[in-house]
Amino acid sequence: MSFVKIRENYLPYGKQSIDESDINAVVEVLRGNYLTTGPYIEEFEHTVADYVGTKYAVSFSNGTAALHGACYAAGINEGDEVITTAMTFAASANCVLYQGAVPVFADIDDQTYNIDPLDIEKKITPKTKAIIPVHFTGQPVNLQSIHQIAKEHNLIVIEDAAHAIGATYQGNRVGALSDMTMFSFHPVKHVTTGEGGIITTNNKRYYQKLIQFRSHGITRDRKLLSKDEGPWYYEMQFLGYNYRMTDIQAALGISQMKKLNEFIEKRRQYVTLYNQAFESLPEVILPFQHIDGNSSWHLYVIRLKTDRLSGTRKDIFEALQKQNIGVNVHYLPVYLHPFYKGLGYSKGLCPQAESLYEEMISLPLFPAMTEKDVQDVIRAVKQSINHYRQS
Ligand SMILES: *Cc1c(COP(=O)(O)O)cnc(C)c1O
Repeated sequence: MSFVKIRENYLPYGKQSIDESDINAVVEVLRGNYLTTGPYIEEFEHTVADYVGTKYAVSFSNGTAALHGACYAAGINEGDEVITTAMTFAASANCVLYQGAVPVFADIDDQTYNIDPLDIEKKITPKTKAIIPVHFTGQPVNLQSIHQIAKEHNLIVIEDAAHAIGATYQGNRVGALSDMTMFSFHPVKHVTTGEGGIITTNNKRYYQKLIQFRSHGITRDRKLLSKDEGPWYYEMQFLGYNYRMTDIQAALGISQMKKLNEFIEKRRQYVTLYNQAFESLPEVILPFQHIDGNSSWHLYVIRLKTDRLSGTRKDIFEALQKQNIGVNVHYLPVYLHPFYKGLGYSKGLCPQAESLYEEMISLPLFPAMTEKDVQDVIRAVKQSINHYRQS
């Protein structure tokens, strides 16, 4: 195989953007009095709540812990079923297992790659308690249909918006539209706190449970105590966890949030360049373009028409890797992981998700990329596709 070498150094698929103001924000915390549970936590929570337009936000040590908290607050328990999408990161389903409940996987819509409301309806049973839709790649899910189904069957909706801070649905920002919404601040996501997550909600009862859950189930709130033995007195009222974020992380988050819209704009610009470059390739299906919402473009996923190529997805993937392009595959359908297979899930459960998995490649997309990086990716993709084009 003879490829023109396109890059000397490796281009990752995603990476944080950290500048001097971020570094200074963190250093300021280190010089101060509180490293954790101090004033930056509340400020960060207010910042995110204001951005998405909710009354409350509760920060967590990571997005997975936040999802666990949301499942607890929703009252998800042994004997319950929770419907989520097969095409997601394992955490969207693991949080259901943490609570002793059963994840039920719905298939995706072939166009948007998001959970298919028709398949949600098929998978509802008397045990269904909640739906965890995921805004896959940042493309907003069909919330109108999902909320209608939830209302009809009395289900709680917890959005996994790890990919979707800044995405909009019917003119509103994702985060204020369901019972609870989770955002992640892992370094590959839009804004980072190193590790971190948050739940946004307008529901005071959920808010109080989340606050307590992330701190051992302990409360000092005088109104919530069963008795009051004095000013020192606090109670552990249920089994919670230590899932708290530090002030070091929160300060970084506050600083990063100031740049969120700029980051998203950069991602959109690069997506436009990708779309323009690949639109003429008959072997490639471009990402879905929404009419009722705006993606926040966490990932740029191309789908290969493998029947038009002489090589497989693996061939194209490896060709891109050899050219130092940090490609990735998001995701193996969750239930095909060995652990889930061990629980009894098996191949064939969600055919659309399985077939997408065989044909998808995520290309590098992050605001710290340069336009030259984007052009390198474009050249590498064109070269690889040309190489495997059926003659
Ligand atoms: C990143 C991610 C999570 C988990 O977030 P962490 O902060 O890494 O724990 C959950 N769901 C999806 C879809 C994700 O991409």
